[in-house]
Amino acid sequence: MSKTEFTPPPNFIRNIIDDDIKTNKWEGRLMTRFPPEPNGYLHIGHAKSICLNFGLARDYGGLCNLRFDDTNPTKEEVEYVNSIKEDVRWLGFDWEDREFYASDYFEQLYEFALKLVRDGKAFVCDQTAEEIREFRGTLTRPGKDSPFRNRTVEENLDLFQRMKAGEFPDGARVLRAKVDMTSPNLNMRDPVMYRILHASHHRTGDAWCIYPTYDFTHGQSDSIEGVTHSICTLEFEDHRPLYDWYLENLEVYHPRQIEFARLNLAYTVMSKRMLLQLVQENFVSGWDDPRMPTMVGLRRRGYTPKALRNFCDRIGVAKKDSMVDLALLEFCVREDLNKKAPRVMGVLRPLRVVIENYPEDQDEELDAVNNPEDPDAGTRKVPFSRVIYIEKEDFMEDPPKKFFRLAPGREVRLRYAYFITCVGVVKDENTGEIVELRCTYDPATRGGDAPDGRKVKATLHWVSADRSIPAEVRLYDRMFTVPDPAGDKEGRSFKEFLNSESLVTLTDCRVEPGLKGAEPGAKVQFERVGYFCVDALDSSPEALVFNRTVALRDQWAKVRKGQKG
Ligand code: ATP
Ligand code: MG
Repeated sequence: MSKTEFTPPPNFIRNIIDDDIKTNKWEGRLMTRFPPEPNGYLHIGHAKSICLNFGLARDYGGLCNLRFDDTNPTKEEVEYVNSIKEDVRWLGFDWEDREFYASDYFEQLYEFALKLVRDGKAFVCDQTAEEIREFRGTLTRPGKDSPFRNRTVEENLDLFQRMKAGEFPDGARVLRAKVDMTSPNLNMRDPVMYRILHASHHRTGDAWCIYPTYDFTHGQSDSIEGVTHSICTLEFEDHRPLYDWYLENLEVYHPRQIEFARLNLAYTVMSKRMLLQLVQENFVSGWDDPRMPTMVGLRRRGYTPKALRNFCDRIGVAKKDSMVDLALLEFCVREDLNKKAPRVMGVLRPLRVVIENYPEDQDEELDAVNNPEDPDAGTRKVPFSRVIYIEKEDFMEDPPKKFFRLAPGREVRLRYAYFITCVGVVKDENTGEIVELRCTYDPATRGGDAPDGRKVKATLHWVSADRSIPAEVRLYDRMFTVPDPAGDKEGRSFKEFLNSESLVTLTDCRVEPGLKGAEPGAKVQFERVGYFCVDALDSSPEALVFNRTVALRDQWAKVRKGQKG
């Protein structure tokens, strides 16, 4: 695939690779991998990792593997494997024939484990999970050796083989590496390599009843695949000594692990565990709810792969954790949609306008520009009529000084149509609510310009009343009310910060008739309102449903200001 428009600046990982190329450390090769655990849907944090790993391979003429880190049979599902593949492809990357599974290496990993047992570097431990935890110690208290640490090689071999053969129940024993119970690094205190789990695996079925841990799997999988740079997030920094210990003691090819800061996005949670809770407890309609930071959610919301790639390039790669502002993500989405999305007119909260001097039987079509950013996009016809709708908020009966839109006695332009002047207001007798405006139009201003050169201060969007079509519009907003819902200082649950207005559904919207039959996923800009897409699930030719992808301007400046005060 082609490079993104925004050229990423150098970063510490690129510097490492540049140096490696100079010293010919990997014989000119570059191989990375994206290693998701298939226990949930991918989110925008994963997109950062995908763009980084696949992007480096693309830029340096290397390869990036897709590897499912599927060592935990109880939480993993084929549904997740398929969605992950779809998402990586959608984002614009291709692993070609290099689709790997850690479970494909189970036999090899078992052989590796046997080698460590034979070399006296691993032992079978009968301690319970609690005893292991107790003996491990803490950051300030060294660990204590397990009483089973000094089993003979023969006894360990025998027990480990019998673990594999299914002789023992879940949790009865584990295989542990013999490293150092006094290490300041807790990961090095005789970490568990294998646990007994009589569970069916989505790929290996019932072939195994012992499963390797993440730490005993990851580096060895990298080694088997010939990965050069194993790029992971910062929380694995403390695991690197163990990553290196296994590869050194197994005496196999040894990739280099490099850690970078994960993406944290303001007003969002990114942990799969929390996202799963939102789904299971019905706070959202599913993994693909357009408010979710999942790739399926963002896609349904109308975000584009290019916008996400550009976002990932712009946020860069650093060694220090930080929180990225939603404004940057939305900027990238707008930047891409601005070029692609055709302009149309849609009125979200319609107010009826009768143009008194427009002939009852007249019906005309006016030319409207499809996309001022794209000269090739051409024009379309938009029907005009005596009765139209404008946006409720574009009229005020008693406007304050800075309100330049329609008001009694005032003239404004209807986009691509005519100048109109408000000559009357009709109210509901009981409620006092404004239900209709009476206006006149100037036929000489057809197309939106006055031949006498007179100016108006506002241009409104509109649709014909009887020739527009109905639509439902869903307005999405940030899912949480605070920037860091997962990190509350008082320990409150992230669920306490859910934004009750994150979804506002408008059911009486009217859109121009050209949108009839719009394809699911189609993206448009409702002029003056924002970018929208046709909902891929709930929209039908008979009943259009639009999702607001992003508002037209940065709404966050307002929010930030509000917070300071
Ligand atoms: P979670 O913490 O949400 O459960 P995870 O790290 O367990 O995510 P994996 O499936 O193991 O999810 O992640 C696959 C890859 O994506 C890993 O290399 C991981 O480091 C990376 N990754 C996960 N979350 C982020 C993030 N927020 N920013 C950047 N990379 C991420
Ligand atoms: Mg993980």
